[in-house]
Amino acid sequence: MLVVMSAQATEEQVRAVCQKIESLGYRAHSIPGAQRTAIGITGNRGEVEPGALDDMPGVQEVIRVSKPYKLVSRDLKQENTVLKFAGSPVTIGGADLVIMAGPCGIESREQAFATAERVARAGAQFFRGGAYKPRTSPYSFQGMGEDGLKIMAEIRERFGLLIVTEAVDYESLDLVDQYADMIQIGARNMQNFSLLKRAGRAKKPVLLKRGMSATLEEFLMAAEYVMSEGNYNVVLCERGVRTFADHTRNTLDLSVVPAVQRLSHLPIIVDPSHGTGKRNKVTPLSRAAVAVGADGLIIEVHCDPDRALSDGMQSLYPDQFDALMEQVRQIAAVLGRTVPVAAKAESLRTAG
Ligand code: PEP
Ligand code: MN
Repeated sequence: MLVVMSAQATEEQVRAVCQKIESLGYRAHSIPGAQRTAIGITGNRGEVEPGALDDMPGVQEVIRVSKPYKLVSRDLKQENTVLKFAGSPVTIGGADLVIMAGPCGIESREQAFATAERVARAGAQFFRGGAYKPRTSPYSFQGMGEDGLKIMAEIRERFGLLIVTEAVDYESLDLVDQYADMIQIGARNMQNFSLLKRAGRAKKPVLLKRGMSATLEEFLMAAEYVMSEGNYNVVLCERGVRTFADHTRNTLDLSVVPAVQRLSHLPIIVDPSHGTGKRNKVTPLSRAAVAVGADGLIIEVHCDPDRALSDGMQSLYPDQFDALMEQVRQIAAVLGRTVPVAAKAESLRTAG
């Protein structure tokens, strides 16, 4: 059920409707839009009796939502969600594209700083890097843990980059919430429902990667889990799904971008690194992702990919990332979008 407030509704009227919903034992999610505020109702087992809300002052209409997801849906919010970050000009979901780049994993201070310097200089807004690595083998590099998060926090100070990094369980989620600007939930955890709910109670926005074999509806329902707990700042990420194809690691499903945009107001970015698994395919698929209308990219870049402890084969050399940025800028312009130059990028460039 969805309560649409009229454009003239006052804040007090919105509050009164929320209170009424809560008094009926449900949860109210008030989502302000450009034209009007809509209030999503969750926590109801059966149908909510609309009568109690229909006649309240400021209510325009009460709509029954037929889709299984409510809060992620365009029924709730027609215009695109644009995420903002405290103390930063960076946005996700607006006209500006967001570029996140960095190594698969944080391996050492030197490796992280050398890579961050190059991606900042090339114009990325976010530094990515795993401190907790969900690896197929328990004998593979598992990440540096909190020490890795500390290195990333230093990188934010030094290079003015925002930080996105993965949380794999409750404990790491609390730490990532503390150190990072955005919490990544990986493909393997897209249906870890208790972790999704915990992320929904975190303060920071969530980057939710698509599960390896998730349908569009499962993907959106995972985002609904996060939002149902009150965290409305969710960005979706297409990172390839598993198919019979063996010329790539995964099959990057770019058609999911317009499919998501039709159904949901949430931003969606693309990860062509995990989506292809092959360095030589990352730049072409980055161009395609921007052309198809993605709100940004997340790219693995390593200062020395041949010695990377994880995902070296798909990590770009810094020079390749420079070229990618140039190409993506031009394609973005065709679509009336921009890749903003991060505040410190110019000074890094002029510093040589
Ligand atoms: C990653 O971003 O490093 C990662 C592990 O991605 P995914 O969860 O998409 O495999
Ligand atoms: Mn990786």
